[in-house]
Amino acid sequence: MKTIGLIGGMSWESTLSYYKLLNEGVKAKRGGLHSAKIILHSVDFAPIARLQSEGKWEEAAVIIKEAALSLERAGVDFILLCTNTMHKILPLVSPHVKTPFLHIAEATAKTLNTHGAHKAILLGTKFTMQESFYKEVLNAHHIEVVTPDVKSIEIINQVIFQELCVGKIETTSKEMFLKIIHDLKTQDESIDAVILGCTEIGLLLDQKSSNLPLFDTTVLHVNEAINHALNQ
Ligand code: GLU
Repeated sequence: MKTIGLIGGMSWESTLSYYKLLNEGVKAKRGGLHSAKIILHSVDFAPIARLQSEGKWEEAAVIIKEAALSLERAGVDFILLCTNTMHKILPLVSPHVKTPFLHIAEATAKTLNTHGAHKAILLGTKFTMQESFYKEVLNAHHIEVVTPDVKSIEIINQVIFQELCVGKIETTSKEMFLKIIHDLKTQDESIDAVILGCTEIGLLLDQKSSNLPLFDTTVLHVNEAINHALNQ
């Protein structure tokens, strides 16, 4: 079994999900007392979130590069960056690291392709929804991306940083997310999927609450990692 490196803490609420899902997945496949081989480098999210909001992405990339190099020195076989948003700076990091990264949007796009989904609502931080770094990976896999209007983007972004990343799960926020999804689908009947493109949104929404298939990027990233770790 390969050793999985995790760069977590963004936020630690979703890193918990990664740790649990990776171990559950290995147990499901190997049985008995088997569990995932993991080395976690968990960062302090406050300075990273500040750098994100100030647009100082190069400085944030230095922190992530150091984390990746520490995992490399520790001997991991591959790395998961446990946040969608920070994949924005992956091109600044990966040239300095020999160990491969499993890209969260690639894992997501592959699964949508397998399910035959063509047009997806993308929910995530405002960086993920408004900038091109994430959408272009999906587009490269022939997935059209629909994002909410500016007001809804602000609401979703606030819920992510002020609630989900600090462990608050509010019913009113869940209803707001579902209304945003419902309104987009009403405007465009050809939408056939929703990407939970932020690693904490799966803490708020589950498949039971939506008629459209929900693709949780945390789960898809984990599934890709399990296949990679066990496929020797
Ligand atoms: N975990 C979130 C994501 O998947 C947001 C935290 C961040 O800004 O890194 O994008």
